[in-house]
Amino acid sequence: MNITEVRVKLTEGKKNRLQAFCSITIDDDFVVRDLKVIEGHKGTFVAMPSRKLTDRCPNCGGKNHLMAQYCNDCGTKLNEKRASRGAGRLKLHADTAHPINSNCRELIQEKVLTAFREEVDKSKQPGYKPPKYEDIEDVDYDDLIDDLESEKNDT
Ligand SMILES: [Zn+2]
Repeated sequence: MNITEVRVKLTEGKKNRLQAFCSITIDDDFVVRDLKVIEGHKGTFVAMPSRKLTDRCPNCGGKNHLMAQYCNDCGTKLNEKRASRGAGRLKLHADTAHPINSNCRELIQEKVLTAFREEVDKSKQPGYKPPKYEDIEDVDYDDLIDDLESEKNDT
């Protein structure tokens, strides 16, 4: 597998633990979006794209994020402890695309972090204009970072 392009969009807040959003192109043919560069407690790492896990309201069957206290559809108060616990913590997200071996994980991590560091260097130059990538968007990430950090500490 060759990663033929990496796009990096740095986040703006200097203290953000979420440092950048990225997309990668595989073999000039296939794009994966929503990778993230995160400043973890044990160093910088690349997070794979993920989605929030949901479950169904016992009253109306509507889907809700696991942290939701009330059903989005009918307003029923939901059981706050319903999220499944793995190793004593809540898991709120699941990867939607990810490497299945460590060689591939390291390849992606290296390519993305190299492109990330180049972009950081560029951003320090006078007159730096951040690239405008319409396919890279900011998403809500606070609880995602906590999730990823606890996952890393497990392994
Ligand atoms: Zn409901």
